[in-house]
Amino acid sequence: MEYSKLVEVQEKLEKTSSYLDKVELISRLLAETPKEEIRKVVLLLLGEIFPPYESKEIGIGPQLIKEAIARATGYSRREVDELMLSKGDLGEVAEELVKKKRQVTLFRESLSVEKVYSVLRKVSEISGEGSQEKKILWISELLTNSSPLEAKYIVRTVLGELRLGIAEGRLRDSISKAFHVSPELVERAYMFTGDYSLVAERAALGGEAELKNIRIEVGRPVSPMLAQRADSIDEVIRRLGKAAFEIKLDGIRIQIHKKKDRIWIFTRKLENYTSMFPDLVKDSLDSIKPDKAIIDGELVAINPETGKPMPFQEVLRRRRKYNIEEVSRELPIQFHAFDVLYSEGVEKIDLPYEERRKTLEEIIEQKEGKFHVVERIISDDEKEIKDFLNYSLSLGHEGLLAKDLNSPYRVGKREFLWLKVKPGGDTLDLVVVGAFYGKGKRAGVFGSYLLAARDEESDKLLTVSKLGSGFTDDELKELTEKFKSLVMKRKPGILEAEIEPHVWIEPKIVFEVMFEEIQKSPEEKHTSGFGLRFPRFVRIREDKGVEEISTIQEIEEMYRKQEEKKGGVSPLSSSS
Ligand code: AMP
Repeated sequence: MEYSKLVEVQEKLEKTSSYLDKVELISRLLAETPKEEIRKVVLLLLGEIFPPYESKEIGIGPQLIKEAIARATGYSRREVDELMLSKGDLGEVAEELVKKKRQVTLFRESLSVEKVYSVLRKVSEISGEGSQEKKILWISELLTNSSPLEAKYIVRTVLGELRLGIAEGRLRDSISKAFHVSPELVERAYMFTGDYSLVAERAALGGEAELKNIRIEVGRPVSPMLAQRADSIDEVIRRLGKAAFEIKLDGIRIQIHKKKDRIWIFTRKLENYTSMFPDLVKDSLDSIKPDKAIIDGELVAINPETGKPMPFQEVLRRRRKYNIEEVSRELPIQFHAFDVLYSEGVEKIDLPYEERRKTLEEIIEQKEGKFHVVERIISDDEKEIKDFLNYSLSLGHEGLLAKDLNSPYRVGKREFLWLKVKPGGDTLDLVVVGAFYGKGKRAGVFGSYLLAARDEESDKLLTVSKLGSGFTDDELKELTEKFKSLVMKRKPGILEAEIEPHVWIEPKIVFEVMFEEIQKSPEEKHTSGFGLRFPRFVRIREDKGVEEISTIQEIEEMYRKQEEKKGGVSPLSSSS
């Protein structure tokens, strides 16, 4: 397929904000794509070269791209830099310079999807001495053969600027429409594989029957089952009756896959973290008995001085920055398994919780301080559960996770089968979409942020709150550094906002925010219709992507409960 066909669709997608038009555009493209090219088309459409779980990057930054643009177009590096200053987007710089190209190329080889994909893949595999120069050569050769529009999208793809994550709902509906399969089956297949390119290919090849055939595979991450929130132990007992209550650990969600002597470590965003945790790889080999297994659990860090859990963010930050081996000695980690999805060639997800738990206990050899099966009780006695909650808190953990004894493992679903019980203030996970410059003591850094939640129905981001409290001075500085590279020239396409921040931010970083109360129609004009009273920054949720932030529907439900508790009649209760 011609690459120009793909970029024309990408350009139209950028120009329209209608959900239905976007679905129509993508589904038509997919339906016209030859089956053997579907995976590549879907990946490129998403701005990727590899499915996300392979965690491989093209490995080219803006400086190399500028060099490649200069070489391909005959302009100097200074001219490229200057145009970048006025445009603020290297894709558009490439588009304009290719249009005005001085070295007129008479014969341009037209680019195919296959060619673009294979060059980008090759570039991502180049390493070692002289690799930068080789990468520049490959990319500039691609740009030499590009039309202006193709150049714009090649550059954006290489820089990872097309990866917005949130387009998933759209892709699900487009695959469904293109191949006449139900959106639920498409979503299920995605939850089982973490890879829309594979799902689209299967749907193209064999429709619904083929999608139904998709099963769990060791080495390919599965979307984890999630928990709803409960307000009180009483609510849990009302909903579940006698249930399992497990300690709720505060670390990061990890899925461990084992095949003989090979281990994969995936996060809840389905990223591959294997190389970051050599210590966990070793502990997993020591503790997981079967040859083939998939285990779900929480990885926590223990402060060696106090013996209590510590914020996991610090561990991730240090492992990214310093020598992993050294950090693992200073900040030891522990894994607490709470589920098994697959063992000895048998899929376990459809078995009831209690049976999975028994299997888990059989196949894990617990190693004190390293690899555990999470502690739990089974009860419907409020007093006993409260005692266990206090025990969990006294160990420095977050609370409890209540689990329905008969529930299967519902891949990728957040239902009332797992319920989290956390005392203390409520929190929301919101994505940063804009920032405001600080004043006075905070001059020179971003002093506050604009935050959004996701509307499940429209797949848009809607604003919920401004946030300027709860940060230390150091945090404000660090955050400013972090957000500088995410500043966008325009409002992100998936965001609806009335408030104009000083700068727009690419929606990538998720803040956990504590607050006192949810307000309906607050003074600050938020497109969600809700606002937060006394919002405070808690931490960055490194483990959550923008697809996983709190939804408007959750906020609505929390608001309803909050008003009920106050004893008043909630304005929403009649409609929900
Ligand atoms: P939240 O991140 O607040 O939505 O809470 C759900 C998260 O709690 C899960 O994704 C896990 O990372 C974590 N968690 C901690 N302990 C458990 C447990 N025993 N069972 C399930 N999830 C747990």
